[in-house]
Amino acid sequence: MDLGLDGKLAVISGGSVGIGRAAARTLAREGARVLIAARDGARATEEAARIRADFGGDAQAVAADVTTAEGCAAVVAAAATMGGAELLFNNAGTGSNETILDAPDEKWLHYWNLHVMAAVRLARGLVPQMQAHGGGAILNNASICAVQPLWYEPIYNTTKAALMMLSKTMSTEFIPLGIRVNTLNPGLILTPDWIKTAKALAMDGDWQGYLQSVADEHAPIRRFGTPEELADVVAFLLSPRASYCTGSTYHVDGGMLKTV
Ligand code: NDP
Repeated sequence: MDLGLDGKLAVISGGSVGIGRAAARTLAREGARVLIAARDGARATEEAARIRADFGGDAQAVAADVTTAEGCAAVVAAAATMGGAELLFNNAGTGSNETILDAPDEKWLHYWNLHVMAAVRLARGLVPQMQAHGGGAILNNASICAVQPLWYEPIYNTTKAALMMLSKTMSTEFIPLGIRVNTLNPGLILTPDWIKTAKALAMDGDWQGYLQSVADEHAPIRRFGTPEELADVVAFLLSPRASYCTGSTYHVDGGMLKTV
């Protein structure tokens, strides 16, 4: 299937590793130009160079902390120098670990900025660029935890649920502008971060066994998904082939969601 992504500029926040990296590579493979945003500019620049080498198209990086207004403005400016974004994958994010009774306000506000305000600020800056191209698409990467919480990460659960609602609200505001907005709720996706966690938590050193036990406990498919499996869904939902998809949440979780 030709996704119709040729030459379109896709902005990927957190595109230097894990899910965002796989999404950037898949979008580039399908012909899109990509702009990767991450705090570690050197790593992002390396990944952009690797994409150019592997797929030939245009790939650039911008060092930016999307928890700040300045960081988001840097992403918007970088996209403008590349001709303006048509696609946005709001992906930068991370898990948390706390109790509601112990976590300070600062931690709540940090995650609010990372998971919610980054999406607000990037939309404010990039939607006019999409309009100049006649439309576009936004995909907000929330999590299964937005609807099925894990007890040890209340801040993550809450801010990802807020991102889902923001995404739905964006979809009604932006569709008259020709911009589709959807939410992606991944389940267990095997990123380097999960491997690091498994290596830290596996008492007997068997980190692969630890990961298998997590998959067995949570996902009926009894394995983690790969970032590449998720990236195929990202590329489709951002592509014009998903032209009737807007305002929806797509779970990609190997059956982990326990409700219908
Ligand atoms: P990783 O930790 O592997 O990658 C996170 C990416 O985001 C990196 O590129 C990182 O680069 C960037 N990033 C983090 N904070 C910021 C910031 N403040 N400003 C700019 N960039 C930032 O994460 P995953 O690939 O595992 O997850 C990606 C998204 O998917 C997250 O939103 C996560 O919540 C969600 N998700 C992941 C699941 C999983 O199982 N892996 C399941 C469900 C949802 P740098 O550090 O250089 O800034």
